[in-house]
Amino acid sequence: MLVLAITFKSTAQERAVRFIDAEGQTLAEIPAHHQNDQVYLPVDAVKQVIDPRATHQYNHPRKRLTLKTKGRQIRLQMGRSAISIEPDGQTLTLATPPITIAQQPMLPVDFFRQLLPILNNVEVIYNPNLNKLQIRSKNTWTPGETDNLQNWTIIIDPGHGGSDDGCTSSTGIFEKNIVLALAQQLQKRIKQQGIQVHLTREKDTNKTHFERIQIAEQNRGQLFLSLHCNTSFSPHEKGIRIYLNNPKGRIRFPSPTQPALIGQQLKVLAQVNFLKQSQDFAHALQTELNFLTETPIKTINLPLIALSEAYMPAVVLELGYLSNVEDLEKLSNAEYTENVVQAITRALQRYISSINQQTAPTAPEE
Ligand SMILES: [Zn+2]
Repeated sequence: MLVLAITFKSTAQERAVRFIDAEGQTLAEIPAHHQNDQVYLPVDAVKQVIDPRATHQYNHPRKRLTLKTKGRQIRLQMGRSAISIEPDGQTLTLATPPITIAQQPMLPVDFFRQLLPILNNVEVIYNPNLNKLQIRSKNTWTPGETDNLQNWTIIIDPGHGGSDDGCTSSTGIFEKNIVLALAQQLQKRIKQQGIQVHLTREKDTNKTHFERIQIAEQNRGQLFLSLHCNTSFSPHEKGIRIYLNNPKGRIRFPSPTQPALIGQQLKVLAQVNFLKQSQDFAHALQTELNFLTETPIKTINLPLIALSEAYMPAVVLELGYLSNVEDLEKLSNAEYTENVVQAITRALQRYISSINQQTAPTAPEE
């Protein structure tokens, strides 16, 4: 039993919390203590991520911590969730109270999640599974007046449907169902932003590529996002992939004896005119979705016949491998898919803002 307890203690303290910026660059990596499913950071972390000139005083007998930063005094009592901020006279309730570990005051990660927006006027997103906390400027993410979100129409294309199941997991889960559920969730979320959204299929129905593109064109879509899942012979292959329709991309076959198929030989029409914008959206997706993953997401350029007729920027997002146990588990987890939906929505905002900055002050052409 003793051995077990020691092992647990040493591994429990090892994982650091990584603070990253909006582009995914590491700002600080701070060794953390993990206790009772909560993550705690030393008080000095305040200097690293909130304010290098912050000072603090800790009253050991009373277990009271006073932090001075940016003209404010923040008072905390170990074991209590309520904190006071002077001179604002503001009180805040932390989701997790600060505690002492080895007689030192420790701040829960929630302290940073909740205080950073107030003290540094930023937006914070926390990924508890990967211990990543992203700090991003608030202004970037609220649509500006020139953004005219109502002018935007996004087409979401849940791949496959009807008799076409797409890939199937060994447990009998169909790609067509995963992508439709996520598309519907995404539609709801994006609509809340005031952006118009159309799905190429609302139900479990067959649709040809041509019909999908037709729906996109009829609804005057300005961006085509096709959702799929992957499968592989290797059970280890996993992760999200982003595919761009680039006629200059190459299809490589797994076997080195088979020649690569060069894209210029394929029929690629109007879509090529939107390559730059497709790349911008793919990059936005990559940046946002990287927050959810341990390893950076790959973007792959391919001549994609399915997208080649779409007269708008287009990207294929492969959400994960149904042949991989971890991916399958994630895609069956409502919290994970909600995080994916949020990341895609943020990518969309990022993309729209960048396009509008390029074309401002006039609205996108119709
Ligand atoms: Zn597919």
